[in-house]
Amino acid sequence: MSKAISQVPLAINEPVRSYEPGSEEVKSLIATYKEMWKEKVNIPMVIGGKEVKTGDEVVITSPQDHQHNLGVYHKGTMQHVDDAINAALAAKEKWNNLGWEQRASIFLKAADLIAGPYRDRLNAATMIGQSKNVHQAEIDAACEFIDFLRFNVEFMTDLYSEQPISDNGIWNRSEYRPLEGFCFAVTPFNFTAISGNLPTCMALMGNVVVWKPSDKQIYSAKVIMDILTEAGLPDGVINMIFTDGKETADKVLAHPDFAGLHFTGSTKVFQSMWKQIGENIHQYKTYPRIVGETGGKDFVVAHPSANVEAVATALVRGAFEYQGQKCSAASRAYIPQSLWADVKAVMEKQMKTIKVGSPEDPSNFVNAVIDENSFKKCKGYIERAENSSDAEVIIGGKCDDSKGWFVEPTVIETKNPKYESVCEEIFGPILSVYVYEDAQWDETLKLVDETSPYSLTGAIFAQDRYAIADAYKALENAAGNFYINDKPTGAVVGQQPFGGARASGTNDKAGSKMNLLRWVSVRSIKETFVSAKDYKYPYLG
Ligand code: NAD
Repeated sequence: MSKAISQVPLAINEPVRSYEPGSEEVKSLIATYKEMWKEKVNIPMVIGGKEVKTGDEVVITSPQDHQHNLGVYHKGTMQHVDDAINAALAAKEKWNNLGWEQRASIFLKAADLIAGPYRDRLNAATMIGQSKNVHQAEIDAACEFIDFLRFNVEFMTDLYSEQPISDNGIWNRSEYRPLEGFCFAVTPFNFTAISGNLPTCMALMGNVVVWKPSDKQIYSAKVIMDILTEAGLPDGVINMIFTDGKETADKVLAHPDFAGLHFTGSTKVFQSMWKQIGENIHQYKTYPRIVGETGGKDFVVAHPSANVEAVATALVRGAFEYQGQKCSAASRAYIPQSLWADVKAVMEKQMKTIKVGSPEDPSNFVNAVIDENSFKKCKGYIERAENSSDAEVIIGGKCDDSKGWFVEPTVIETKNPKYESVCEEIFGPILSVYVYEDAQWDETLKLVDETSPYSLTGAIFAQDRYAIADAYKALENAAGNFYINDKPTGAVVGQQPFGGARASGTNDKAGSKMNLLRWVSVRSIKETFVSAKDYKYPYLG
């Protein structure tokens, strides 16, 4: 154990590389992409530090070329879920007894490996497997993941140093113990950083973890596991399994040692897992912690005093970057009648220049949606809007699945503020616009608040300070991350802790001390230096 009160390196946000055309950094990243594109990967699960190949091989393809075989991953069975739980529990005591500086070093080293030698590989894996362009891969796989790792170390020490006061003659302490049992991380396809953060932040706090990544993100998950192994993560602390989501949840959530769920994904899946935990509550050794960050239907509302170019730019970036597959993506906009013609004209002008295609060409702003299901879902919304008397597709609308899952950035205008595409999470490059009468500002804010069950992100654009104050108050519970005169995407670790409430999750704010607090169980310690020797208090005479 430590014989010093160590200071951790000050966390600062990783600078984002700009990848300007012709720069050395873009040449290097695209060269790595091209090399990896030709490799045939063979991805094992990692259980107890051992690579597990089951022979049940599943071919991995790329969203931008669904016929291109990138290699295979090995699918596991329920036996492997058991093995992963047992490996985690076997690693628990030693990991728990290791000093926090040792744990911190592993994750700080992982951050430096990503910042340096693994940067191109992790970014390229994200570009190939999840169809992100150079910028989207950089802000996610490299920068956000590095920030999570570095800031979490700082947050951990902040938390550890929160200690109670002590009266004369006693010493009070708080000890931040890991949860008793093992934790379960279930991660989504859309952010490599989230996939890495969910298991690592629990492990940093001393927990042992079973991690089930999305089967659509296994290509970059493998690189994350390689990095953690090189950083010195001991065997069994994080066990990565590729098993069926529902069956795995059935097994893990019924285990008596299950102690915590760290989930990011859709609302429906999270709610089903929470229900299962409730049904199994009598068989756990301890009440499990449940953290889930789920869906969104994120809004942009413009006041008549808003700047036209700023609104249009926020909509184009907020709705279409990463094909609208960010939980924070702008997907419904409320624009006043007096501004709409101008906002629309600027959007049309900007969107004419947007190129759609493979991330291999860095000039493509929009790439492919993740898979066939997503492609069909987007196409369905577009076709129904084209045939609806309530809605009109005013920009974009083309879909092309001949090579990859490409959906053109699309704007649907509707006169029905409760039209399906205004209320439901689509998770694709489709923005719905409702144009309101300028005089209906207060009614519009109410509409924004009441239209969807979600409450993740939202933005207000206005120059009029009273209008900003109105929206700030009226939309208090409509978004966990609220933006004033900026797009609703792009939260930065340490700057805008991220998460939402209502149907969007438990709002435990990824990338903050609040989140880490969920993965510890505090022991209060009181030590008395000179113990009482007689039961009689003075009042007894
Ligand atoms: P998803 O719910 O389909 O999958 C998430 C994870 O759950 C995957 O690992 C998947 O294999 C697993 N899973 C699927 N069905 C399961 C079941 N029945 N039981 C247990 N596990 C199961 O989500 P996705 O498509 O990967 O990600 C997109 C969703 O994630 C969107 O709804 C988006 O809004 C949300 N998201 C939210 C945040 C946030 O911070 N709020 C961040 C990213 C993504």
